Amino acid sequence: MRPSILFPLFASITSLKGIGPRLGPLYKRLCGEHIVDLLWHLPSGVIDRSYRPELKYADRDRVATLILKIVEHNPPRTPKLPYRIVGVDEADQQVVINYFNAKGDYLSKLYPTNKKVAVSGFLERYRANWNMNHPDYVVPEEKISEIPRFEPVYPLTEGLSGKMLRKTIEQAVSKASDLPEWHDLHLLKREAWKGWKESLLAAHNPQFPDSNIDSKERRRLAYDELLADQLALAVIRRHHRAGSGRATPGTGALRSKLASSLPFKLTAGQEQAIGEIAGDMKAPRRMLRLLQGDVGSGKTIVALMAMLQAAESGAQAALMAPTEILAKQHHARISEFLKPLGIEIGLLIGKGRGTERQAVLDGLKDGSLQLVVGTHALFQDEVAFKDLALAVVDEQHRFGVNERLRLSDKGKGVDILVMTATPIPRTLTLTAYGDMDVSHLPDKPAGRQPIDTRLVNMERLDEVIEGVKRQITGGAQAYWVCPLVQESESLDLAAATDRADLLAAKLGAAHVGLVHGQMPAEARDRVMAAFLAGSIKLLVATTVIEVGVDVPNASLMIVEHAERFGLSQLHQLRGRVGRGAMKSNCLLVYQAPLGAVAKARLTMLRETEDGFRIAEEDLRLRGPGEMLGTRQSGLQEFRMADLAAHQDLLAMAHDDAKVILNNDSDLNSARGKALRVLLYLFERDAAVPLLRAG
Ligand code: ADP
Ligand code: MG
Repeated sequence: MRPSILFPLFASITSLKGIGPRLGPLYKRLCGEHIVDLLWHLPSGVIDRSYRPELKYADRDRVATLILKIVEHNPPRTPKLPYRIVGVDEADQQVVINYFNAKGDYLSKLYPTNKKVAVSGFLERYRANWNMNHPDYVVPEEKISEIPRFEPVYPLTEGLSGKMLRKTIEQAVSKASDLPEWHDLHLLKREAWKGWKESLLAAHNPQFPDSNIDSKERRRLAYDELLADQLALAVIRRHHRAGSGRATPGTGALRSKLASSLPFKLTAGQEQAIGEIAGDMKAPRRMLRLLQGDVGSGKTIVALMAMLQAAESGAQAALMAPTEILAKQHHARISEFLKPLGIEIGLLIGKGRGTERQAVLDGLKDGSLQLVVGTHALFQDEVAFKDLALAVVDEQHRFGVNERLRLSDKGKGVDILVMTATPIPRTLTLTAYGDMDVSHLPDKPAGRQPIDTRLVNMERLDEVIEGVKRQITGGAQAYWVCPLVQESESLDLAAATDRADLLAAKLGAAHVGLVHGQMPAEARDRVMAAFLAGSIKLLVATTVIEVGVDVPNASLMIVEHAERFGLSQLHQLRGRVGRGAMKSNCLLVYQAPLGAVAKARLTMLRETEDGFRIAEEDLRLRGPGEMLGTRQSGLQEFRMADLAAHQDLLAMAHDDAKVILNNDSDLNSARGKALRVLLYLFERDAAVPLLRAG
């Protein structure tokens, strides 16, 4: 249970004054539902209103705060002209203040003639005059202190003005309680950091024109979050490693049979990874290993070898995939590999298929079924294993921490192997997994040809379609990925449906299939199966084609509005082709004009197929959340920390978390209690119950 000291922070935003059913949803869209979400909503910039020049020496085109005596009101002669108010400063220099579409009586109250007012706004020079259009602040001279010297600028959403948001955030910050200090005092001293609440206040009230991500208060808040995250990971890891692992040496019999029946030779990277995993499994401690390999690098066979090692030892192994399509594909592929071995692998997905499903459940329970592949369905309560020794998780970043824990709890001392096709830079590995051992497949299987990647202007869409037609007629298969219209699946879908209709008209309806996220799973499976079988030649898809789908005959990838996709996403998409013997092409169709960043991105993609280089660059350009697609990622998105800017803090937090757990493993000291508050504050709740477990 969340400590009561945090209750005010986790109250609904609608409990604030002035926020009811109309504004509530806007705030929710902007930052979240709770007051704490407002606290985390930090300014993205600062307006410097501290500039108070004499007009004679003023800079033009700059925000300025002035005290003016009002000398004249000039209502407009026609509605199209502005209402003009003339004011003068101490030295009798004139400024014209313009209002478009304003009410005269309102303005005469705001700017009483012969009185002094303080105004703050953008000061311009127009012909020989100083001008200020619609000042942001107008107050009587004596109230000038109401104009902030440095005004925070917040990211907004439609329907919320900056002023409203600032007021609300002020209210929220005033509700923030002082929380007990969770950091080591030496650290605070060394970094010259203030307490949590003070840092939060400072972050919302920048006192310098260029307060930014590197300010002390921001770094302190970022460190809070990173420490919460690293501590949670460390606790979960300790829980995982605690208790006895198991030695699963195997006899080698199944593995050598598989090796000799493979239609290809394992790459050196595969051999090495298989060796590393075998070593871990043989040892009595628990394995926690990440297998990183770019798309198409051949991770499945590595996983299968590990699974066979478990089977040889008389135990069981499970492979968990993120989607039904992938689970089925793995099942089909692996069954093929297993034919010469005389051992079976079961399939367990979603709901239903009555007797078949029951047979799999029975087999897992009595141990007659040693291998299984499936989806999330694998860790439903009704699934019981006789003796699960190894869990392999494919495309890990779609699973959350809790799901991972549930899976490993299906057996005693279960070894865990995580496979990811997204090349994850070290920074992210650390945040997602803490200290996992890592095996890496650096090389692609021999005989793969490089993919020819080109950038094509949208204007040449007709030529692209002609090209697709030629290729399809020649026997190739192609993917056509539709643009992300916006963060709305229904709009994305409309665009994809239009595109599929057009392509069907040009290429023949029988050749074209469409898959999208809102389709029932069965319908989607049918289309995918038809594409796999080759009866559909062109697969039109919204956003993301199921990660990991393997159709070797597909040799052409078209991504429309490529400029709207992230680098890693494009790399993943491109990795769907180039899997067979055929020369493959990838066309990145863009809408001109391309911005500098978009251009750099697409050019990089054209120049390299190195997933790690691409991932590092992507992290630099976009930050981690977007890189992995936050919506589908099991990765927590950071609110305060910016992984690109705060890498040093991440490393510190990583070490600090270890020290904390070593010194105070139940977190029962005073500092320990504060750290519990920290875990709740950043919603790392899953870790808290494990603290006791020790
Ligand atoms: P990924 O790492 O993307 O999951 P897969 O395991 O799906 O890659 O392998 C991609 C394809 O490459 C599969 O068709 C697989 O059978 C094949 N493959 C795997 N290893 C080799 C190898 N050493 N030589 C040739 N083909 C291989
Ligand atoms: Mg795969």
